Amino acid sequence: MTKRALITGVMGQDGSFLAEFLLSKGYQVFGFCRSNTSSNFFSPVSALEQIEMIEGDLTNISSVETAIKKARPDEVYNLASQSLPALSWDHVGMTIQTNCIGASNIFESIRIIAPNAKIYQASSSEMFGESNDLAHDEEGGFYPKNPYAATKIFAHHLAKIYRDSYGLFIANGILFNHESERRPLRFVTQKVAYGAACAALGLENSPDFNDDGVPIFNNNTLPMGNLNIYRDWGFAGDYVEAMWLMLQQDKADDFVIATGQLHSIEDLCNFAFGYVGKDWRDYVISKSDFVRPSDAAKSQASIAKAQKILGWQPQLNFKDLIERMVEFQINYIENKIKQTKS
Ligand code: NAP
Repeated sequence: MTKRALITGVMGQDGSFLAEFLLSKGYQVFGFCRSNTSSNFFSPVSALEQIEMIEGDLTNISSVETAIKKARPDEVYNLASQSLPALSWDHVGMTIQTNCIGASNIFESIRIIAPNAKIYQASSSEMFGESNDLAHDEEGGFYPKNPYAATKIFAHHLAKIYRDSYGLFIANGILFNHESERRPLRFVTQKVAYGAACAALGLENSPDFNDDGVPIFNNNTLPMGNLNIYRDWGFAGDYVEAMWLMLQQDKADDFVIATGQLHSIEDLCNFAFGYVGKDWRDYVISKSDFVRPSDAAKSQASIAKAQKILGWQPQLNFKDLIERMVEFQINYIENKIKQTKS
């Protein structure tokens, strides 16, 4: 029988990759998205027509219930989120509403309407905070450094409570950063890929602007914050397979998903600008007003459990990922400039 999956946040980076992945596995895919959703410019293209869209807001339980009744899902992937840690400082209430109340709306509706459905809950490596030299695993040790991380911890624990108290199948995927050409420009990997593309095209100022209305690539420079931050970055297309694998298990569990490799923002700049034959030091500047004091310097992962139980391995390495993003940005900017001229 055809399996049915409901994806919240289907228009986001992970939602779009997951929808494509599940369609390729023969699933009937239902996408839950806001009626006022502005599909970001990296939205899914080929899959879009095959997804049955259900309009609703995760913070409104009756729209969640309606979606579950309509989709009658075997699997629910709760990816909808206010997903930007930096934005969560200015929008604490909205972040709590979406990430905490939203998750509780999913768990509670599934408990009542479709208790046999398996749920994937999008937890985050942000929950760990600082890593020092320890690699984080599923045992926790959370030390959140921003409101986003705190909301993800709430939902993570609520998932475990529903699992233990009601017997619901809820898997928490503690995913480290995963990127792609579908990331918004606010994220550091995409910003650097974009800056390298501008340098490759010989632009002095970029056609896209930051939140302050200043070109992202400005006067031949890419202003950044602290370059000595280390992260584990993987490819979103690989990580959605791990989400799916979690729901194919007999028992619900928590899994850390990452590559196990750390890279600095300097490495990121080096790969991105190096790909287009440029020296990143000629363009990237570290500016104090871009430095976020509460950013964890390092966040390291142990993926032993996911490798052993899920048999999951990341496929695309960091360098290839960044090069793919730069390539995409070059095409995107060229098209944007062409459109502006015509
Ligand atoms: P994303 O691109 O920001 O997508 C999030 C989606 O959630 C957007 O399509 C957004 O729709 C939707 N959404 C927000 N509020 C909603 C609401 N109230 N009702 C319905 N939909 C709502 O995020 P992502 O990168 O794909 O990440 C997917 C999930 O994984 C998120 O929960 C994120 O926190 C988590 N995560 C991501 C990473 C990562 O590195 N990408 C790492 C760890 C965890 P609109 O277009 O309407 O705003």
